[in-house]
Order: sequence, then structure tokens, then C-alpha cells
Amino acid sequence: MKKYNFNAGPSMLPREVIENTAKQCLDFNGSGLSLMEISHRAKDFQPVVDEAVALIKELLQIPDGYSVLFLGGGASLEFCMVPYNFLAHKAAYLNTGTWAKKAIKEAKLFGEVVEVASSAEANYTYIPKDWTCPTDVDYLHITTNNTIYGTEMRKDLDVPVRLIADMSSDIFSRPVDVAKYDCIYAGAQKNLSMAGVTLVIVKDDALGKPDRKIPTMLDYRTHVEKGSMFNTPPVVPIYCALENLRWIKKNGGVEAMDQRARERAEILYAEIDRNKLFRGTVKEEDRSVMNICFVMNDEYADLEKPFLEYATGKGMVGIKGHRSVGGFRASCYNAQTIEGVNALVACMKEFEAQH
Ligand SMILES: *Cc1c(COP(=O)(O)O)cnc(C)c1O
Repeated sequence: MKKYNFNAGPSMLPREVIENTAKQCLDFNGSGLSLMEISHRAKDFQPVVDEAVALIKELLQIPDGYSVLFLGGGASLEFCMVPYNFLAHKAAYLNTGTWAKKAIKEAKLFGEVVEVASSAEANYTYIPKDWTCPTDVDYLHITTNNTIYGTEMRKDLDVPVRLIADMSSDIFSRPVDVAKYDCIYAGAQKNLSMAGVTLVIVKDDALGKPDRKIPTMLDYRTHVEKGSMFNTPPVVPIYCALENLRWIKKNGGVEAMDQRARERAEILYAEIDRNKLFRGTVKEEDRSVMNICFVMNDEYADLEKPFLEYATGKGMVGIKGHRSVGGFRASCYNAQTIEGVNALVACMKEFEAQH
């Protein structure tokens, strides 16, 4: 049976990305050695990093003055690296859910944190809009896509201070005005690569502001200076990212990814809204096109488990919602297909007809 992968992360990658990465793991560039066995400083590997960085700059049209880094530690390490490197006195954070809260917790270790707004009282089912950004802060931190709750800010904010964004689950799914940001970071395993590498895009002249000593590995300047080669970077995840970046480019770049994401989301949300069994959990204008969350309508609450079993039996993988939301979550990152979404919609229709 064909499987349709809706996992929230690590998540679906295009088949050719996986196959090409697997080939290099067996024999890297015809060298007779595996990608896993060569030095990250081998002359064959530097072009991998160079091409990946060039493609990221091209796809996101990154202006001059920014560095593109491949680091370890996941997006979670960036929760502390960001304030370590940027928070001199005070920072503002928008609290849109679990990941934002984790970022806030780390920032508090380094200075004053102003929570500009929060949607906690409604279990993060919307993006707060009625707030103003203080002007006396070092930066405003946002989470552009809230993977767990299925809310998303798909437009770059206009605020009077520099932005820092966790884009772990929607990077490369739309064009981004990078010039508005001092730093963008993303764990790779949602929309860029396999787990193990974190992408960081950082504005060079924004670094070095706080007057504090920073451990070498946690100082962005170390990695800027050494081109992500200060220590051994995660070579296989970087290679996998390169293959995926090539795939994104070949398939029309981030504009095309945006278009495809909207098409998929439209199909699925239309069915959620139409089907008598289900309802969406998120305020309509804030619905994510990456993580589509829905629950059973109250009168059909006892059908939750049966639907999960039914859909699983039809090849749907990873549609169980996060425990803090319940219900279902269909993650539709770049590699997701219209065919996959239609297969899920078919399950929803068939199940409705049975009840
Ligand atoms: C998954 C996720 C994280 C955590 O990423 P790790 O790489 O596991 O540390 C952080 N932020 C967002 C928005 C995520 O979706």
C-alpha cells in the first residue's frame, strides 16, 4: 500500500533527494568512499557547502552582508545562541506557542524579556495582532510557523526594531524579505533536510553588540569566520540539504513552493470546513499552510480513534495531532503532494459517508 507521509518532523522529503543522498553515502562522487567516511575538509566536500550556501542565497535572495551557517544542536540550541549573541539589555518576544515559550525561557537567562503578546489563553489558536513593539529592545523574536498549533505568519512583519525569527517549519516555503531580519534560524528536519543540521542566516554587522564573553562554539562570529568549518559540521545532513535545495530550484523556487503550499492547504481546509465530522482548530486568517490541524466536531468526538485507524489503514502516516491540541495534524511541507492531500480528503469523505 502506498504511504502518504504527514509527519510533523522529521518529515517527508522528495524521493529523489533521499535517493541521491543515499547514493553519495555509498560512493561519494565516484571516490570509492562514503560521504560518511571523508574529511569535511576534503576538497570534494567544500563544493557541497559552497553550492548549498549559494543556493540558499539565491532562493531567498539574501542581500549582501549576511552569512549562511550550518550548525549543530537543532533550533533548540538557537533559543540560547540568539540571546547570547544579540541580547544586550532587553528583548521582545511574541508568544505564539510551545517553541516561542522555550525561546523566551532561554532569553531570560541573558536579560530582560518583554512578552509583547500571547495567545496562551486560547491555547495558541491565533496569532496576536493587537500589540506594539517597544522601540528600546535589541530585537523582536517571532516564530513564523507554529508547528504544534497550526498557526502561521506568512508575511514579514514591519516593526521598528530588527527581527529574529524561528522559521524551522516554514523556511523555503515562501519568499522572505531577509533584509528585515538580523537572524533567521531553522532546524532542518521540517522543510530543508534530514535531522542533524540547523540553518542560520545572520546579519554580519549585527553581531558583537552585547558586552559579554561568549563560549567559542556558541559565538556566531566563530562560524561566520570559519565558514561553518570551525569544527566538524554534520556532513550528511548538509549534503541532503543541498539535494533538497537543488530540488526546490528545479521545481520553481520558493514562489512555486508558496503556490503549491497554498493549493494543498486550500483543498484540505475546504474539506475540513465542509465535512460534518470535522472542524479546524485555528482562527481562519491565521491558518498555517504547513501544519493543518483539525479535530472531530463535538457530537462526533467518539469517532476520533476510529478515524485515525481508518485513515492509517488507507496509508496515511503521522496525522495524529500533537498531544497539546489533540485531534489531527496533517503536515504539508514542500515535499507534500496534491495526491497526498487528495488521498487524505478521500478518507475524510469516505468516513463521513459511513457515519
Ligand atoms: C521542531 C521545532 C523546533 C525544535 O527544533 P529542534 O531542531 O528539534 O531543536 C523549534 N521551533 C520550531 C518552530 C519547530 O517546529
